Amino acid sequence: MAKKQDETKKKMEELKKKLFLKRKHAALILDDAQIEECDAFCEAYKAFLDRAKTEREAVDCAVGLLEENGFHAWTSGEKLKAGDRIYVTNRGKAVIAAVIGKQKLDAGIRLTAAHIDAPRLDLKQSPLYEDQELALLKTHYYGGIKKYQWTAIPLAMHGVVVKQDGTKIPVTIGEDAADPIFCITDLLPHLATEQVKRPLSQGIHGEELNVLIGSRPFRSDEGSELVKLRMLEILNEKYGIIEADFLSAELEIVPAGKARDLGLDRSMIGAYGHDDRVCAYPALAALMDTKSPDYTAVCILTDKEEIGSDGNTGLCSSYFHDFMKDLSEVFGTKAHTVFAKSQCLSADVTAALDPTFADVNDRRNCAYLNYGVCMMKYTGARGKSGSSDASAEFVGEIRGLLDREEVIWQTGELGKVDLGGGGTVAAYLANLNIDTVDVGVPVLSMHAPLEVVSKTDVYMAYRAFAAFQQNQA
Ligand code: MN
Ligand code: MN
Repeated sequence: MAKKQDETKKKMEELKKKLFLKRKHAALILDDAQIEECDAFCEAYKAFLDRAKTEREAVDCAVGLLEENGFHAWTSGEKLKAGDRIYVTNRGKAVIAAVIGKQKLDAGIRLTAAHIDAPRLDLKQSPLYEDQELALLKTHYYGGIKKYQWTAIPLAMHGVVVKQDGTKIPVTIGEDAADPIFCITDLLPHLATEQVKRPLSQGIHGEELNVLIGSRPFRSDEGSELVKLRMLEILNEKYGIIEADFLSAELEIVPAGKARDLGLDRSMIGAYGHDDRVCAYPALAALMDTKSPDYTAVCILTDKEEIGSDGNTGLCSSYFHDFMKDLSEVFGTKAHTVFAKSQCLSADVTAALDPTFADVNDRRNCAYLNYGVCMMKYTGARGKSGSSDASAEFVGEIRGLLDREEVIWQTGELGKVDLGGGGTVAAYLANLNIDTVDVGVPVLSMHAPLEVVSKTDVYMAYRAFAAFQQNQA
């Protein structure tokens, strides 16, 4: 009898091992040397985060890295051969880079696409005002934020001012240790009796996101708006600008400070703007490490995802399609022929399960921190609306690739059905008739001024993109 029980138990264990889906914490799969590799990769990623807080800075940074890695700016018509490394930029806010493959372009490309814009506060066109002898800047938030999170934290200003004569002046204030910072003030709890009765979504209204920038007046016994005047005097001395120059500026208010290791074990990174630099940097790094691929490897770092991908630097614009038309022409083919055989990993973040708010997720179908890069067959909301929903065949192919290459990965969807949802650029690439699936890094506190990712997940994103683009036919 005991023997029979032992046999049944053994069979059950064998069957479970054979049949059940397995999940394992990355730190229990990787050895010390591999974890060191993850950590080393993340040091480079942190440096990128610190230099690339806006889409423009991300493009500048990417172009610098691309050129260091043998890529050159390509102009349409220029002949290309296998192994050539090229890039094109779009208005300083988006970049496409490629390594030409050994196969004919007709065989399709291996594309990764991430976005380099992030939620933030943009200055309004006429932002500067003085109230009660304080100088403030009006903002209009960009992307989906919880507005109350942006008060009472150190803020920096990044962007450009374009003067009437077309001169473009870059501005960065608040990042250097010697720089001043800015902030949005919040009401003291003692006097917030009425404010705290507001629903959370209105704890701070959009029109209350006013950035404090100064308090000492231009010294004069008469005259009005003297603090505002003094602020303009300082800006004029430093940047040569006048108030009207705000009209043609893109100044973005972002959290000040650098990316930091998070946790006693330094297993995570806390930073502003992981969404979606945490996929953009690994995608770029993977492309730069791609040498003589079979299929042409392409990486897009795009703008405007956080506000719907419209505009000429977003992926709803024709700029990527146009690049592919130009590239196809050089190889004597048509873009639509190439698209039909192409594959894309839409590289964007997903939500990691937060134990404090675990009930928003279906625990069987959500992403976990440290369980690797996450493949999402579909995104969207209310019945997958807005999602391109990858085919079983394509998911199967990528699944096989990731397993063969020993990439630690998981699946997950963003939240319980009908609780919310979100989209990515996947649909816009899939609409070009490219096989597309979302693959990205799980994030805690997504869209907050301080977002959290796991270092092993970041590295696994790199490994996934590298495996995909190093493809061998
Ligand atoms: Mn994103
Ligand atoms: Mn986002």
